[in-house]
Amino acid sequence: MRTRREFLQKITYSAMVLPLLPSWQFGSPHIDSEPYEGPVLRVAIMGLGGYGTRVAEAMKACKKAKLAGVVSGTPAKVKEWQSKHQIPEKNCYNYENFDDLKDNPDIDAVYVITPNALHHDQVIRAAKAGKHVICEKPMGLNAKEGEEMVQACKDANVKLLVGYRMHFEPKTLEVVRMRQNGDFGKILFFQGQCGFRIGDPNQWRLDKTLAGGGSLMDIGIYAVNGARYMVGEEPIWVTAQEMKTDPVKFKEGVDETILFQLGFPSGAVSSCLSTYNMNHLDRFFLNGEKGFAEMQPSTGYGPIEGRTHKGKLTQQHITHQTLQMEEMASIILEGKEPVIAVDGEEGLRDLKIIDAIYKSCHTGESVKLV
Ligand code: NAD
Repeated sequence: MRTRREFLQKITYSAMVLPLLPSWQFGSPHIDSEPYEGPVLRVAIMGLGGYGTRVAEAMKACKKAKLAGVVSGTPAKVKEWQSKHQIPEKNCYNYENFDDLKDNPDIDAVYVITPNALHHDQVIRAAKAGKHVICEKPMGLNAKEGEEMVQACKDANVKLLVGYRMHFEPKTLEVVRMRQNGDFGKILFFQGQCGFRIGDPNQWRLDKTLAGGGSLMDIGIYAVNGARYMVGEEPIWVTAQEMKTDPVKFKEGVDETILFQLGFPSGAVSSCLSTYNMNHLDRFFLNGEKGFAEMQPSTGYGPIEGRTHKGKLTQQHITHQTLQMEEMASIILEGKEPVIAVDGEEGLRDLKIIDAIYKSCHTGESVKLV
């Protein structure tokens, strides 16, 4: 079986030649023709929207993961995906009948890429069908849902992973390695600023019943999650403040902008901004007694750019979703341990912090996390 280093070398080569290739070859398995004989994770994507499409394209370059099925409520999309990705009829499902996956030995895992409010029930049904589940962020709408999802996957003896693609991103991992190595000294401060100006007021992201909230659920979660992996600790308190400039577009329960602060056991603090009202906002800054790291962009699709007190981060950009799926296949098939966890417990930790942020916005008080 090929090693991770060999894979990274290969895919790095692919990334170098990509700009020279016609766009239809982007992510194509033909870029790397070396045969791979090991096990392959056969994935059904549930939700064939914008991000599902991106994941499907990126998976074409994977060796250990393969798009093998779909779950969709739109027959026309299923037909289109079938012919584009050579998916047999027997691996196509809709939202009513996907429990029948239990009788399909040709699907190993379901990747849930639907609006946030649907994740809870869909993950639990996929687990009950005996399939490993990858779920997009946010894993659920709140910690209660998250706990039920984690339990359901435990009960079904399947793995639950969350689509935290940054946990595999090479520059991010280099900063984490440097922090673990003590290069920044004692960590004192993290700043995470995540946002974009959201368009169409009628989209599900601005509908509380489907999104579960606003910018925090969608984009601010990167700062919540990033604060934890950059500082390397779990926060013990949260304070947060919400601002709204457009209450028509951002209705009750849909946050436009939230500022939040996290306190960590070591005394490190973090100050973060989540917003649907500013563009060009994708920045991480980590400060320690001996040095710093700054990344901008820090969580977009990349390439991620960054530098530390030691110089520019030069790790090769690899399509995030390709790397994520390749690594998740190793986690599921080989029991590989990722550097930064991506399991259901990890998703649940973020949901507990998100609950606390919303609570603090409403009460105006600091919320303790236990
Ligand atoms: P999208 O609107 O482009 O796609 C959503 C899909 O879900 C559509 O195909 C839609 O038809 C389907 N769907 C099924 N039931 C639906 C319902 N009741 N209402 C509305 N749509 C329904 O959204 P998206 O951008 O693909 O986001 C999907 C999920 O992926 C979200 O949880 C989002 O947070 C996550 N996401 C993650 C990343 C990332 O970088 N990890 C990026 C984008 C989106």
